[in-house]
Amino acid sequence: MKLDNQGLLIVISGPSGVGKGTVRKALFQRSDHDLEYSISMTTRKPREGEVDGVDYYFVSKEEFEERIKNDQFLEYATFVGNYYGTPKDKVLDKLKSGSEVVLEIEVNGASQIKKKMPDAVFIFIAPPTYDALEKRLISRGTEHSDAIKERIEKAHQEIKLASQYDYIVINDEVDNAADRIMAIIRAEHAKTTRTIDEYLKLMEE
Ligand code: 5GP
Repeated sequence: MKLDNQGLLIVISGPSGVGKGTVRKALFQRSDHDLEYSISMTTRKPREGEVDGVDYYFVSKEEFEERIKNDQFLEYATFVGNYYGTPKDKVLDKLKSGSEVVLEIEVNGASQIKKKMPDAVFIFIAPPTYDALEKRLISRGTEHSDAIKERIEKAHQEIKLASQYDYIVINDEVDNAADRIMAIIRAEHAKTTRTIDEYLKLMEE
């Protein structure tokens, strides 16, 4: 029996190249989930195989800046020269209707969400080692060597922010990481602070 009907906002963050995207996709491939992914908006050019409206909403810098002016993002950040942001209305509507919404965002955006929505669940995906992170970025083959260097330098800063999160999930193996995230989501639903009012009401009936 599920006691809390309010959808959870689940924030998956961590350094670039740690495999957040892969872990998130593994999570969404499971049949036992009831999660909605919030598709981000970016000014980055699509990589091969990426589809507009599926992987990201790809927009121009001008359009992104117009949306910033109109307060249309729940959070946004610049990352390695491009804007990335979470469209606000869709996320808030989904949460209101009881859906579980997953954001997969970099660490500055996660800090903004923490200030605005402290009830959200913050999960830091961590690399097992810096070497593993570098190997992943190289094998992904989507960045040239300067960009890889820049992302590794950034990762050293980002790792320090792990202490601000509710949970750390080490991405040693994608399926294990996805298992742990599912376990976290289930445990969060049983948290007294999320369920007690509803439970006491139920027992009075
Ligand atoms: P990539 O260019 O590799 O797709 O993404 C670069 C970084 O931006 C990744 O760490 C990714 O998680 C993050 N990112 C993707 N969407 C958003 C977003 O909406 N907001 C923020 N703050 N970061 C995002």
